[in-house]
Amino acid sequence: MLIVKNKEEISKVLQSFKSEQKSVGFVPTMGALHKGHLMLVEKAKAENDVVVCSIFVNPTQFNDSKDFEKYPRTETEDLKLLEEKGCDIVYLPTVEDIYAQENDFELNLNGLDNVMEGAYRPGHFKGVVRVVKRFFEIVKPNNSYFGLKDFQQYLIIKCMAQELNLGGNIIGVETLREPSGLAMSSRNMLLSESEKHIAAEVYTSFKNIIKNSTEKNLHECIDKEKQRLSQWFVINYLDARSSIDFSEQSKIDANTRLFFAGKLGNVRLIDNFGIFN
Ligand code: AMP
Repeated sequence: MLIVKNKEEISKVLQSFKSEQKSVGFVPTMGALHKGHLMLVEKAKAENDVVVCSIFVNPTQFNDSKDFEKYPRTETEDLKLLEEKGCDIVYLPTVEDIYAQENDFELNLNGLDNVMEGAYRPGHFKGVVRVVKRFFEIVKPNNSYFGLKDFQQYLIIKCMAQELNLGGNIIGVETLREPSGLAMSSRNMLLSESEKHIAAEVYTSFKNIIKNSTEKNLHECIDKEKQRLSQWFVINYLDARSSIDFSEQSKIDANTRLFFAGKLGNVRLIDNFGIFN
């Protein structure tokens, strides 16, 4: 596995693969890797000749500097896991390497960035789009892999990729969960064992809403689960929204997705669940 720390070197290496018509699959991450990340690498591996994984804790997407500082960093362990998974190239850029040659750009995200995480984390998606755009420009992948765990991010990146014609095919990968139902996340490392147990209640709430809601009572079911979860969480939102444009829904249909964000102690967790998948 090749470890590359600057864009000149990665461009050179990838150029030689591309001249041999080899396809490049790209998995961007912020490290502190878990099995969910590795599933993306596995899928990229199965569908491409060469797999590039980046590890970069992107400062521009953190609206809270304390959150940025306490974000878990486990580089040595991450490299070992990627090597075991057969990742071909790991890109570990510096902030300078990514942002030094950035061009201004205008982007219409059709309002996808105004709700949920966009509303609660001002500037977050601007930072995500900036960094992913730079990665796409440097790596020029044929296929790029994103987890549906961050569904809003996935849809925004898909929109950006289409608008700017970057990133190749944007492929969404289902959320990997612990047996308890807790969505795997780097931030789970910051939870105690008892908090992890409680965090799985979000999944129970998704299931309860799906089981109990009828044509007429979706909002009542959501309110009931909000109340139940609020004994443990400071809830930012628990919403039923369209998975196409994030409009709020009062009735379940084939595109309905449930979205949650809330704080458990000092750790902010997000999760989402598609009603029909
Ligand atoms: P992060 O390092 O948190 O930025 O995540 C890197 C990529 O892994 C993103 O596309 C995430 O959506 C994805 N990811 C994170 N957790 C999971 C999970 N539990 N299952 C599937 N993909 C995930």
